[in-house]
Amino acid sequence: MVYFLFAGVFFGGDILYLYLVQENLFFPSTCIRLFFERKRACPFFYLVFFCLIPFFFCSCSESVESEVDLFPAQEDLFVLFPNDLAQGDSARAYFSTGVMLLVHPNGVYEISFDQDPGHEPPKLHLFRTYTKPSMSQRFGLSKIKRLKPKSSGGRNVYTFVCEEKESAFWVMTLEEDGDFYTGKTSNILFTGSGSYSDTLSLNLITVGLIDPIEGTVSVDSLSRLLVQGFRKSYTSIVIDTIYTNHAEDHPTLGSKFPATEYWYAGKSSEDFTVSELGGWPAKGVANALDIVLVHRIEDLNVLGYGGLFSMNLGGGENSTVVVGTEVLTSSGIRTLGAEEIVNVAIHETGHFFGLRHTTSTRQDMEGYLDWSIVEDGFSDTPYCPELIWSGLYKVGEKGKSAMMDARAYGFEFDVAKCPDADLLMFPVSTPGTDKNFSKEQQRFLKQSLMLIPH
Ligand SMILES: [Zn+2]
Repeated sequence: MVYFLFAGVFFGGDILYLYLVQENLFFPSTCIRLFFERKRACPFFYLVFFCLIPFFFCSCSESVESEVDLFPAQEDLFVLFPNDLAQGDSARAYFSTGVMLLVHPNGVYEISFDQDPGHEPPKLHLFRTYTKPSMSQRFGLSKIKRLKPKSSGGRNVYTFVCEEKESAFWVMTLEEDGDFYTGKTSNILFTGSGSYSDTLSLNLITVGLIDPIEGTVSVDSLSRLLVQGFRKSYTSIVIDTIYTNHAEDHPTLGSKFPATEYWYAGKSSEDFTVSELGGWPAKGVANALDIVLVHRIEDLNVLGYGGLFSMNLGGGENSTVVVGTEVLTSSGIRTLGAEEIVNVAIHETGHFFGLRHTTSTRQDMEGYLDWSIVEDGFSDTPYCPELIWSGLYKVGEKGKSAMMDARAYGFEFDVAKCPDADLLMFPVSTPGTDKNFSKEQQRFLKQSLMLIPH
């Protein structure tokens, strides 16, 4: 049976999946929904049928193994991200029958898992997803190749290179004798390595009116603190230049962002990530990471946004990190000082490159659609079971998750009890400048940056 496969894509991390479903936005996500539409399969079926008939008669005189295209079995596809060690049991459960893979141009990828002595090593089928121009927000699938594994240290190892011009989601299945592989697939690893630069520049973009920020005398001095903070925290990569730009000066979009009005992300415009400002059109700046500073993010207890595994330094969707100068809390407005703004920007940028919270929040797990991912998967970052058990993690007004204000917890929970409270990827903003990334997180950040064209 030939099916057409369509996917709608959504984003996880600090951005809650459900919100985006409601808003019908177009973002990659920890869960991809595939919709099978059999009625639409007929033209495609006939095309494939008549093209393959001559092929069949030419080759049937030889003894050839069957060439099935093993499309995914289920409608919902979970995503494996490169070098992500926090795979949930959902992705593992559907590993043979179909998962998505986030891949980047020219990246060299390896998928491996323990061999099952009771089964022959399966073949790995790879498919490219493509947007169907007549049906926005949906994808079709086209076969790329079938891979046979190499055997190494008792594991099946498959390697491939991503030959795409932009980052993409590919789909894989595992085949055994023309059907889905039924053997065990223990200890799955999906790794990726790129050869792009390990140097990153920053571009601070102010949007609208920005009040004076405590600890600074100007936006330029905030820029200096920002680049100092990034250099101190991101020690595995080179933080090069920081540029400072103002949205009102944008050569084509400037008039949309008057310098005299406060900008409320999520209210002043529907796109709370203000991604149209990403990829700032100036020489040298276009490949910098765009950090958008707005007056406030219009959601309860939310200090910043960074989409998990955004990994886009080229502009457009998922190309920005957003930070507010004040936060809306249940007890009123709180203004952020420069130190906290810098910490939030560093934290959200960690998500941008694929770092998860050291302890998953309720919103994170809802966004992952997987309640088994309770922490980030690194062995050198502790996590805080008390935070999960506390049940105090409130859902934001719009259901979005982000770096939270400590007041969201009320008085019942003391975040200082958490062993990960001093790590930058702790989900709650706490005071102090002595926060850091662990060694494994640093290694991961460098791997991610080098996978991204820039
Ligand atoms: Zn966060």
